[in-house]
Amino acid sequence: MAKRKNKKYKLTGWQTLVAFVLVIGVAIALHTIPGAWEFLAKYLPFIEEPRQITVPDGDMAVHFLDVGQGDCSLIVLPNGKTVLIDASVKDEGKNILEYLSYQKIKRIDYFILTHPHADHIGGAQEVIEALPIGKVIMPDAETDTAVFEKLLITIDNKKIPLHIAKVGDIISLGNANIKILGPVNNTDDLNNMSIVLRLDYGKTSFMFTGDAEEPSEKDMLDKFSASEFRADVIKIGHHGASTSSSYDFIKAVSPKYAAISCGKDNSYGHPHTETINTLNKLGIKYYRTDKVGNIVFSSDGEKVTLLRPTA
Ligand SMILES: [Zn+2]
Repeated sequence: MAKRKNKKYKLTGWQTLVAFVLVIGVAIALHTIPGAWEFLAKYLPFIEEPRQITVPDGDMAVHFLDVGQGDCSLIVLPNGKTVLIDASVKDEGKNILEYLSYQKIKRIDYFILTHPHADHIGGAQEVIEALPIGKVIMPDAETDTAVFEKLLITIDNKKIPLHIAKVGDIISLGNANIKILGPVNNTDDLNNMSIVLRLDYGKTSFMFTGDAEEPSEKDMLDKFSASEFRADVIKIGHHGASTSSSYDFIKAVSPKYAAISCGKDNSYGHPHTETINTLNKLGIKYYRTDKVGNIVFSSDGEKVTLLRPTA
């Protein structure tokens, strides 16, 4: 009797083979089909998403990293070129490097530091020490903090070309272009010295604003025609502070999506209600890094797709 019972639960050779092939097949599918993990995670929420984000061949990825109360965005082009915009605070340097290693990024072609505040350049030292950097781009602004001075020395020691961004500059990335839209005027206010740029890939565009506030937004609106501001996605200025994201500026951009980079329970109360109201009024879907973690989009040049968050 006992023998028969055991036999009942034993897989035959064929069943074992089929099970084995199925497991391998699913594993290969999850690994190779873009969006497969995301699809599965949607229905099985207990499945942890893989940290490497894959996009179909020919697509560009734009990541807004969850880096606490700071900014850090990563652009990965189909030709392999990479752009890193800001590197949050010093303590986030390690996390940024870890994120880059998950994305198999071994080199940053353009490292854009929007302005020399510690919540944008704090982690840059660690990134520059760890990875080869093609070029650093900064605005024509300086500060006397130890973090900034040490960073300049490191850039100099490593002989990394340093380019001061000028309004109207176009950076060709092969598949894509970056156009510098701000700051139009020089000022002592470092936030308003933030480099503002639009990234174009095919028919799609992304707007990066650093911590630019209303005076800088107004200068840009005065200088450029409305079509220069149109973008599918915007990184909201100054972590969602009410002093940025004027109605006119956000309306000119008219994005489908907005990403807000801010820390959990930050002492500034970012993002401010005024900014959220503006986004709601214009029907813009927004995501906050403090609520959803990393925010990632892909673009095939025709349309933008939200990859993270998935739910
Ligand atoms: Zn900031």
